[in-house]
Amino acid sequence: SIEEVEDKPEDLLPRAPIVTVMGHVDHGKTSLLDYIREENVIAGESGGITQHIGAYGVQLENGQKIAFLDTPGHEAFTAMRARGAQVTDIAIIVAAADDDIMPQTKEAISHAQAAGVPIVFAINKIDKPDANPDKIKEGLANMNLLVEDWGGKIQSHDISAKFGTGVKELLEKVLLEAELLELKANPNKVATGTVVEAYLDKGRGYVSTILVQAGTLRVGDYVLAGQHSGKVKAMQDERGHDVQEAGPSTPVSILGLDGAPQAGDKFNVFEDEREAKQIATKRAQLQREQSVRTQRH
Ligand code: GDP
Repeated sequence: SIEEVEDKPEDLLPRAPIVTVMGHVDHGKTSLLDYIREENVIAGESGGITQHIGAYGVQLENGQKIAFLDTPGHEAFTAMRARGAQVTDIAIIVAAADDDIMPQTKEAISHAQAAGVPIVFAINKIDKPDANPDKIKEGLANMNLLVEDWGGKIQSHDISAKFGTGVKELLEKVLLEAELLELKANPNKVATGTVVEAYLDKGRGYVSTILVQAGTLRVGDYVLAGQHSGKVKAMQDERGHDVQEAGPSTPVSILGLDGAPQAGDKFNVFEDEREAKQIATKRAQLQREQSVRTQRH
């Protein structure tokens, strides 16, 4: 059975923030995520992260880490929330400085607010000659969102995702915001978390990217995720390196599930492989019955 045992305060250790990037189409979400992914160089490792596994972790020069969901836009955010998954600690909302506050900017703001997730604004494209960051900040002020340099408490930073200007400082502000949240998790128990994406790879079978949110996942664990289960045969990080274990706020892709769970499905680890399989089968059966019923109506 899936039991959530409450952690004792002394078992909780600091964990990295999980960040989603949202904003209006063409305002630079993908460019920002790409820049961070490609430019991040962890000590001792050369080159950026080349794999697209739906989520990635980066480490800043000071050693602090941030986990990013690599699916820009609020569709992913709302789809996950609709499945009951809360996988974002902080939202970066990108707003292009050569444009107005647009409908999807407003939508992103309301989604973050509805989820109780703090926002850090990235005022983007400041390299453009017609960029006017103050116009965006004024627009935000008119929505009762006062950013710091307008005397408010909401973090924002002017950036160019194209050239990387200000991105480091933006991430420092994200970490500052994270500090206020005092994010913690117990790494010393079996893992729980959320599926970010999954697909069938012709050579390797089903590959699922999951975000561990509590506990530690290990190769050999029996996992149940949505309607699928299986023994974790191998795990890889965002650099394609094999890893043996993954702790809180760590995204990994895993091999071994008997199908592709959906983004937003939660995963749990079971001691008993058969029990995981039984629940998965039961869920699949319920789903089939439900779709037969809806087809009849
Ligand atoms: P998304 O739809 O929000 O993911 O936006 P993209 O990242 O795809 O960017 C849309 C367009 O704006 C692309 O042509 C990018 O090259 C361009 N772009 C994004 N960021 C910047 C920036 O900082 N400066 C400039 N000049 N162009 C940018």
